[in-house]
Amino acid sequence: MENSPPSPAEHPFDERSEASARASPERNTTREERPRPDPERPVAIGEPQPIDVLAVDDDPRNLEVTRALLSRSGARIVEASTAEEALRILLTREVALILLDVNLPGMSGLEMAKLVRARERTRHTPIIFLTASSDVRLLERGYALGAVDFLTTPVPEQALRAKVAFFIEAHRKNEVLRRNSELLRAAHERELARNVAEARRRWEEEALRREMERDRRLVETLHKANERLKILSGVRSDLLSTENVRERLPAICERVATQLGLERWAVHVAGPDGRLSLVAAGGAQDDAAERVASLDSAEAILGGLAPWVSGRGEPLPPVAAALGAACCVARPCLAGGKVIATLAFGSAERDACDPDDPATLELVGYAIAMALDRDRLIAELQGRNAELREADHRKDQFLAMLAHELRNPLAPVSNAVRLLQEYGADARVRERALQAAGRQVRHMARLVDDLLDVSRIRSGKVRLRKDVVDLVQVVRDAVQTMQELVMSRRHALGVSLPDGPLLVEGDTVRLAQVVENLVANAAKYTDPGGHLRVALARAGDEAVLSVQDDGIGIAPELATGIFEPFVQAEQGMDRSRGGLGIGLSLVKSLVEMHGGRVGVESPGPARGSTFTVRLPALAADTAVPTPARPTSPAPPAAEPTAPRDILIVEDIADIRETLGELLRRRGHGVREADGGRAALELARAAPPEIALVDIGLPEIDGYEVAQRLREIAPATRLVALTGYGGAEDRRRASEAGFRAHLVKPIDIDDLIALIDTLD
Ligand code: ADP
Repeated sequence: MENSPPSPAEHPFDERSEASARASPERNTTREERPRPDPERPVAIGEPQPIDVLAVDDDPRNLEVTRALLSRSGARIVEASTAEEALRILLTREVALILLDVNLPGMSGLEMAKLVRARERTRHTPIIFLTASSDVRLLERGYALGAVDFLTTPVPEQALRAKVAFFIEAHRKNEVLRRNSELLRAAHERELARNVAEARRRWEEEALRREMERDRRLVETLHKANERLKILSGVRSDLLSTENVRERLPAICERVATQLGLERWAVHVAGPDGRLSLVAAGGAQDDAAERVASLDSAEAILGGLAPWVSGRGEPLPPVAAALGAACCVARPCLAGGKVIATLAFGSAERDACDPDDPATLELVGYAIAMALDRDRLIAELQGRNAELREADHRKDQFLAMLAHELRNPLAPVSNAVRLLQEYGADARVRERALQAAGRQVRHMARLVDDLLDVSRIRSGKVRLRKDVVDLVQVVRDAVQTMQELVMSRRHALGVSLPDGPLLVEGDTVRLAQVVENLVANAAKYTDPGGHLRVALARAGDEAVLSVQDDGIGIAPELATGIFEPFVQAEQGMDRSRGGLGIGLSLVKSLVEMHGGRVGVESPGPARGSTFTVRLPALAADTAVPTPARPTSPAPPAAEPTAPRDILIVEDIADIRETLGELLRRRGHGVREADGGRAALELARAAPPEIALVDIGLPEIDGYEVAQRLREIAPATRLVALTGYGGAEDRRRASEAGFRAHLVKPIDIDDLIALIDTLD
């Protein structure tokens, strides 16, 4: 009955057909069905389970015999008449033993055994072959295919029962073991799952607790930050609303102290000298704060360079000790890199400050520093504003005074002109008018010179022409020059000079200017008929000059500022004493340029004054110099040594014509041009010996006129006449080819002397 085995696709016992076999149980031809064991269902150890034995035989009688033999074995006999049917049963059912007829129709028993062994679930299912043959080859093949036994039919009853009983028992035990191990595994898994769930629950609880703690701390921090912001915004709005931060500081600090819970505090503010003074303190005894009432430096208050210090065993700043605080936060308030205030807050009741206190105090300190600095700047600006207003006022006063001082000499000049016009024929009238006009013009020229000197000295443009100078001679000449003024006011003038020379190193003209100014003031500020005294003497290494009067004196409050420009004592509306308030400032500057100093003493108004000048004196044995340069102009030459051919180039007719007339009167030949073009034409016609050229000419300026004249008439000597006498003007004039440079108003005698020297 050996048949060729069906191809795998044909037999029903492959893995693919298992699912469909389970899905369509009607194809299963078993006579009894049993549900497969449920692993989830707990089964007690030893619980009897129905056990299936699959009997496969194409002979119903054999099956009948087998069933009868095993009826009391405790096993349930599942029968199949073909291998295919048996395989289908095995797809859905687990059996403890297969009793397999070797000779089956279709697929043989051996082929079936091969398929059973090949399948995972039935690999270990015991197979007992039933066969009538005792062919050894068949036996070998059968064992090779996994048979556990061979029984030859007719099967001895006892042997079959015993073998089946053995396999049933083995299966039962296996089953029990398998189920128990499944139960154990299930229990273990449940235990594991419980443990995991428990761990998870604990972890979630802990995470929740941590999250809640974090939230709590966050809320706390926010709350604290809010409180700090409240402190800061309170301080800021307080500072903004006040115009005097210093006055508001106590109230601000008191509030900050309450908010920080640091009841002892002190605030210091730096003065202009940088010294810190206590503005206010709170919570401590008065005498405690007094100990830090005024201190040199922030370190003296705060200690070291640490901006803040907290308590709890850390060293406390000196201010904490003074306040009797056990913990303290202190810090300097800085503006522009300088300590302008210090803040200290502490407590006697707490042993440590809050860790956030330093940061809060830093912001408070910063706001206070800014506000104090703002107040300082405002005060400074207000001060500057007041100074500017004062300067503006002084400038207005000065301009009014200048107008007054210039107009005063103009009146006599204009009167003199009228006198000359109407009564010029009278020699006596003519003489007096001319003298008055000459005096006033010199006075005006001197005012303008002084003004120019002040501005030149201030801008450092004045250079001294230093020589070894005999101060005795200088004083003598200056007194002589001022004699006319002194006499006009009927003063008695006493002069005390050393017998021998008293030498200094200096500029004769400038030193004379100093003496003349002081003597002129003494004469001016002493009512007519007063007493003046000029004394010069050596005192050690110094030459001491004093100019004393018994005049109106100087009020003490004025004495200190009297050497500043434009400072004058109050005068009546008539300004009868005149002056621009610059003479003494010139004196001071010139004396200082000589390395000396000047001072004034006055017992008070109406009690006279004494001005004292001290200059470094040279050793007595220094060689005596040649006589000093004359300080007064040389007497006018009546006649020129040689008449010259002179061209005057000047656009202002009055200057041109009067100058022309003066020169003609002295015998010179004079031609006049009112501008550059006219001058060049005249020069072309006949080159002049000397050309006096105004610099500020219209159309072509004096420098250019000079350059063109040099081309037309190279031998002509050029002299510049100008209103500008600065070093730069002189340099340009000399570059343009001018031999000399005269500043207007020109002294006719100086001009004559110059013309005589031009060769
Ligand atoms: P000015 O005399 O042109 O006003 P000064 O600079 O020479 O300018 O003097 C400044 C001020 O000092 C004078 O206006 C005057 O009030 C005061 N002063 C100067 N000299 C004397 C003096 N000898 N006696 C009293 N006051 C004087």
